Amino acid sequence: MKIAVLGSGAMGSVFGGLLAEHGQDVVLIDTWKEHINAINKNGLHLEGIGGDRFINVKGVSPADEIKDHVDLVIVFVKSPFTESAVKGASHIIGENTMIMTLQNGLGNAEKIAEITGSSRIIVGITNNGATLIEPGRVRHAGLGETVISPFDGKIFQRIKEIAQIFTEAGLPMRVSDEVTVLVWDKLMVNVGINALTAVLKVPNGYLVEHTSSEKLLEYAVREAEKICKAKGIQLKHDPVQHCKDVARATAANYSSMYQDVAKKRITEIDYINGAVVNEGKKLGIPTPVNETLVLLIRAIEEGY
Ligand code: NAD
Repeated sequence: MKIAVLGSGAMGSVFGGLLAEHGQDVVLIDTWKEHINAINKNGLHLEGIGGDRFINVKGVSPADEIKDHVDLVIVFVKSPFTESAVKGASHIIGENTMIMTLQNGLGNAEKIAEITGSSRIIVGITNNGATLIEPGRVRHAGLGETVISPFDGKIFQRIKEIAQIFTEAGLPMRVSDEVTVLVWDKLMVNVGINALTAVLKVPNGYLVEHTSSEKLLEYAVREAEKICKAKGIQLKHDPVQHCKDVARATAANYSSMYQDVAKKRITEIDYINGAVVNEGKKLGIPTPVNETLVLLIRAIEEGY
């Protein structure tokens, strides 16, 4: 299968690298030239789960170097760049190209659908974790299940075939029709952990080791839970308990928003706590804690 990874940072490199290692025809696309040059010169240096090795995979920057349509585009840019990345790669998206988003937060599939139409979009969540160590070198830090679903319409054979290809490549993937619940379940964790760790400049575990930060986590997640209830979404877990469990299980980790702020990069705040605020406005549900977290992160970004 001809696969293009659009945004080949931490996650894109892990997914693209494993698929290439297992015989798929993969191209890694990224605007970060240093990273792409390192991959083309030495191979992708992948470490962590699966061991330390170099994978032979082609990188391009920008997408213009690819001339033909691909079978599958995996979008792995951070959410603020979804629109520009997909528009910039529109020449590789033909009428049979599937487009998959496993990005965090809400609204990415909708943004892609505005450009490509909704019928070929696959939306999902992944419980894999990855860290970019240096240009050309990425750590596969956590192995977990990926769950996908068609964004619009019924599950069809091609989606099942795609899931099989990923599973065979060492990325266990399941097709489900309840992905909305899983997206919100994951959103709850990001709502409780990401912005708070970025504002407080602390690892995830700190939030549950201190009374005041634990309360803030709880208030932010309970606001989001009210929105789920109003939308009729039945979460799989108690969201506060689940968020605290994740913070404990990943106590030493620094969230992606913490890392974005530390590197003065635009964060995914609008797609996480900001999405909760937007949904709250539509439903008439106040979300003052999430609104404050959004403003705090924006205030940090404005100072870059
Ligand atoms: P990342 O910042 O490491 O990688 C994103 C890459 O996109 C960067 O290398 C950047 O240069 C590139 N990019 C930006 N604009 C581009 C464009 N127009 N065209 C091509 N490339 C472009 O991010 P990540 O950690 O891999 O996260 C990607 C997504 O996956 C996010 O939504 C994140 O929340 C989600 N996610 C991450 C993890 C994780 O452990 N890292 C886990 C689950 C989900």
